[in-house]
Amino acid sequence: MKKDTGQNRAITSKWRTATQAVRGGTWRSEHGETSEALFLTSGYTYDDAETVAARFAGEPGMTYSRLQNPTVQMLEERIALLEGADAVRCQTTGMAAMTAALLCQLEQGDHVVAARAAFGSCRWLTDSLLPKFGITTTTIDSRDNDQWKAAIQPNTKVFFFETPANPTMDIVDMTYVCGLAREHGITTVVDNAFATSALQRPLEFGADVVAYSATKMMDGQGRVLAGAVAGSHDFINEKLLPFQRNTGPNLSPFNAWVVLKGLETLDLRIRRQSENAMLVGSFMEGRVKTILHPGLASHPQHNLAMSQMSACGPIFSFIVDDRKQAMALLNALQLIDISNNIGDSRSLMTHPATTTHHSVGPDARVAMGVEDGMLRLNVGLEDPQDLIEDIDQALRAVGL
Ligand SMILES: *Cc1c(COP(=O)(O)O)cnc(C)c1O
Repeated sequence: MKKDTGQNRAITSKWRTATQAVRGGTWRSEHGETSEALFLTSGYTYDDAETVAARFAGEPGMTYSRLQNPTVQMLEERIALLEGADAVRCQTTGMAAMTAALLCQLEQGDHVVAARAAFGSCRWLTDSLLPKFGITTTTIDSRDNDQWKAAIQPNTKVFFFETPANPTMDIVDMTYVCGLAREHGITTVVDNAFATSALQRPLEFGADVVAYSATKMMDGQGRVLAGAVAGSHDFINEKLLPFQRNTGPNLSPFNAWVVLKGLETLDLRIRRQSENAMLVGSFMEGRVKTILHPGLASHPQHNLAMSQMSACGPIFSFIVDDRKQAMALLNALQLIDISNNIGDSRSLMTHPATTTHHSVGPDARVAMGVEDGMLRLNVGLEDPQDLIEDIDQALRAVGL
């Protein structure tokens, strides 16, 4: 196994993202395979006892797949190149990535400022898990720069947010919020699942750590669960790695291989899905009470969103009269699937209040803007006219 001679970091780091998505981080074995090899192995063997001793003492080389695996490393290298990060480690799910990114750096007595509007399980981490270890959280309206500032305490260690947020599509002003964090020695952790590096690179706006559900756009075809954490050498090697090596939320080589294949088409998919989302969103505007779509001028943070993202992404939410009408609309769909997943090449729609944000509870849902009449749509790669016709007939079926 050798690194392809054309693939050393000095050369690959100069490639543009579309090239990196196809080739970045590829290693080739002595067989010269075109596609990345899948190393389904938990352990490794050695020519002599001294070799393994040297590797355990810090020399490069594989020792055990909880510590390194060639297929997983290819994915980590590719994501690092796409993200513009020093280093990346991959985890078994997006939630394993979020948990590792937070717990590896926090300790008893620390304080976190987190966005109120967030994925249900991310809220569970800050509301229920961290307090068990004596770590407190203040949740704020992440759209309001002043609230970030006002929430800082002497023991604040981390800012944690999504932009756009799931499912309210709240946008965080990353230049301001990450700059504020830097001034106070606070580490910013950005959950970038909705945009991915193909549309938005938070490190360029001053973020310290980018954490991913790679289950979403990176796989992009609804096949595997995966997660990733990107950051500086110091953060990944000194903080995340000891946590990950000893607690073991590692991504399986098979799933890493599937995500490597997914990344080859990420740029194409997310741009076409964004175009489709613009067409579907424009059609729906005026037909529903509220549409929360960062690509439309009607989104209150449209200009900020578009200054941070190169396209709107495939996901938006909208609000109909009430829960009953939302459920009836889902049941009237003929093409779009009822599914709580996102980032898929298939169009999927869900009712967040009874699915992804069920566990948050009614009060917190109201506070974060997840209304009972809200539906979230992931716009896929189907012909947008078919999607528009399906939504049109479903809206008519519920009297809209
Ligand atoms: C789906 C999602 C997660 C969790 O990812 P899994 O891969 O399902 O564990 C975290 N954050 C956001 C914004 C998500 O959409």
